[in-house]
Amino acid sequence: MEFNKVLENVTTYEAGKPIELVVREYGVDPKDIVKLASNENPYGTSPKVTAKIQELAKNMFIYPDDSMYELKEGLANKFDVLSDNVIIGSGSDQILEYCVHAKCNENSKILMAKTTFAMYEIYGKQTGSKIIKTESDTHNLEQFSALYKEHGADVIFLCLPNNPLGECLDKKDVYEFLETIDKETLVVVDGAYQEYASYKDEAKAINPKDLIISFPNCIYLGTFSKAYALGGMRVGFGIANNEIIKNLYKLRAPFNITTLSLAAAIEALNDEEFVQDCIAKNFEEMTRYEEYAKSKGFDYIDSYTNFITLKFGELYNSKAVAQELLQRGVIVRDLTGYGVNAIRVTIGSNEQNTKVFSVLDEVLEKLK
Ligand SMILES: *Cc1c(COP(=O)(O)O)cnc(C)c1O
Repeated sequence: MEFNKVLENVTTYEAGKPIELVVREYGVDPKDIVKLASNENPYGTSPKVTAKIQELAKNMFIYPDDSMYELKEGLANKFDVLSDNVIIGSGSDQILEYCVHAKCNENSKILMAKTTFAMYEIYGKQTGSKIIKTESDTHNLEQFSALYKEHGADVIFLCLPNNPLGECLDKKDVYEFLETIDKETLVVVDGAYQEYASYKDEAKAINPKDLIISFPNCIYLGTFSKAYALGGMRVGFGIANNEIIKNLYKLRAPFNITTLSLAAAIEALNDEEFVQDCIAKNFEEMTRYEEYAKSKGFDYIDSYTNFITLKFGELYNSKAVAQELLQRGVIVRDLTGYGVNAIRVTIGSNEQNTKVFSVLDEVLEKLK
């Protein structure tokens, strides 16, 4: 059967390995498995959210509120924008997809960092667009500018902070760059980890309202999957001027968010204390990884997120390290596929991290 030609260039996204796979393949007891490969919040779901989901479980025969009125209002209030400036997606992934499909076709160009969120390229290729990447792994705005001057772009992706490396640009530099971008170019500011970055360093904080007023060609994306601890519920949001939102809406399937997901997101938004507490613990625990790396003589990237990238240089092979960890029930992300000899580890709970260090000790000893 023949399929759309553009699909020949599209690779399938490989998600972090699920716990079930490690149980099946390596016979590890599920309770001994530490899953730190998908940047989930290790502190579980807020009890207020769980209670709400249980309460609504009996209403599942009714379609969700397709206007998503309450969640949109909640987000509009939080960010001091209008509901008309908000779109909700099944994860911010879905809005990334809308952004690309709303702007791109076979003649389009998309500009991004060399090592960044894999879905930008996958959605781009679905439209047959040309993907242009900087040479530098981390976000380097001089290289973005040079490539933009040379090729132009229909869409630019800025991942602030960047997944999978964890680095983050200063807002001041981002704004200077945005000044030079044509109003026809859609700039997607992916803020999946902004809650973490703005907690750690005010200079990295991007305010969505200020962004879209200063730069009407920008869209800010946020997600409930990371700091808000709702990865399993699939809710993300976009904030942009209404012209952009209206056009993204044309790509939306009806009822793209479930009743339970909407309710969970609304509750999560109301429990800011839980989120801030998780973020504080995240950075406390992160220092343990930094000290561990130093003690073992390898490098790490200073992170503004809920994960840390450990770079092994000449010391170890990251693929081997990840594989050995996996066999011992510790799931992390190997970055070999991104061309980097490093692993990305989600910062777990205190107990999980202690286990990671002891298993890593064993693995590094073996691979020495
Ligand atoms: C996790 C993540 C997202 C979106 O996740 P959803 O679960 O689809 O909301 C988007 N961008 C980056 C960089 C991410 O790490």
